Amino acid sequence: MKCEEILDILSDYVDGELARGQCQRIQEHLEVCPHCREFVETFRESLEIAHGLDKKLPPQDVCESVLQAFRESCRKKNN
Ligand SMILES: [Zn+2]
Repeated sequence: MKCEEILDILSDYVDGELARGQCQRIQEHLEVCPHCREFVETFRESLEIAHGLDKKLPPQDVCESVLQAFRESCRKKNN
């Protein structure tokens, strides 16, 4: 699995809504990729903060900004 693939399913992963097979693939990647592991932690924390601010609304803005940051950091890492 590539780092970019994580992007597509990351938000489902942190919400615990992934199918078991997908979840396992991500976790296997996180075990070998400190970069993504660190990012998922940051992403999860951001979501928790957003959920704390407004429990009714999904934190779309937070998701978008964090995912954007992840894309950029992936690009830098691959260069
Ligand atoms: Zn990765």
